[in-house]
Amino acid sequence: MQTRPYNASLERSSISLNHIASRKTSRVHFDVIIVGAGSASLSAALVLGRCRRQVLVCDVGHPRNAASHAMHSYLTRDGITSGEFLQTARTQLRPYSTVTRLEDEATDVASFEGGFTVQLHDRGHYSCRKLLLATRVVDSLPRIPGIEQFYGRSVHHCPYYDGWESRDQPLAVYGRGIKGVVSH
Ligand SMILES: Cc1cc2nc3c(=O)[nH]c(=O)nc-3n(C[C@H](O)[C@H](O)[C@H](O)COP(=O)(O)OP(=O)(O)OC[C@H]3O[C@@H](n4cnc5c(N)ncnc54)[C@H](O)[C@@H]3O)c2cc1C
Repeated sequence: MQTRPYNASLERSSISLNHIASRKTSRVHFDVIIVGAGSASLSAALVLGRCRRQVLVCDVGHPRNAASHAMHSYLTRDGITSGEFLQTARTQLRPYSTVTRLEDEATDVASFEGGFTVQLHDRGHYSCRKLLLATRVVDSLPRIPGIEQFYGRSVHHCPYYDGWESRDQPLAVYGRGIKGVVSH
């Protein structure tokens, strides 16, 4: 079984580069640059955007939970796909002219007095007063041949998210020593 690829990259950014260029006249382009556009980042963008902070969100579209079949245990969103969740978040950000999104990778960051400069892979560099790195946790799968094809389907990293779907079935628990096993 193949894991479903996350398709955020198919959604082209609606950002106007003129919109960004106009900010270049000010000393810094943005109040806040957020690297990453997962749930942590988009949540921050929503709050900051509504506070009339000028925000740039840049992301390469590889969320941690891309292998997940569906999200669970998140009130009001139980059972939706992670792609659907992020799509809804992006749609709800659209009315906020204060929030700019770019599909691009942040490749470098430098600080200067009073702010930061973020280098993007394709779209140049932008400066900001505050920088928020929301680039996620990276999960290391155990080195078991073929495990990738089952990850997010029948191999799960968290029983609270996916245990219900496997209830009453034989279960193997893998962890680092007894501590890893007992925590689940
Ligand atoms: C298999 C699996 C199943 C899960 N199931 C559930 C569930 O059912 N319910 C639940 O509530 N939670 C679940 N989680 C946990 C949840 O997915 C994560 O906690 C959540 O996605 C983390 O959000 P985040 O914003 O921190 O990171 P992410 O969603 O991973 O977002 C980080 C983003 O940063 C981007 N990025 C990284 N580096 C750069 C860079 N240099 N430049 C630009 N962009 C960059 C990445 O492309 C990515 O899009 C699951 C996790 C996994 C792994």
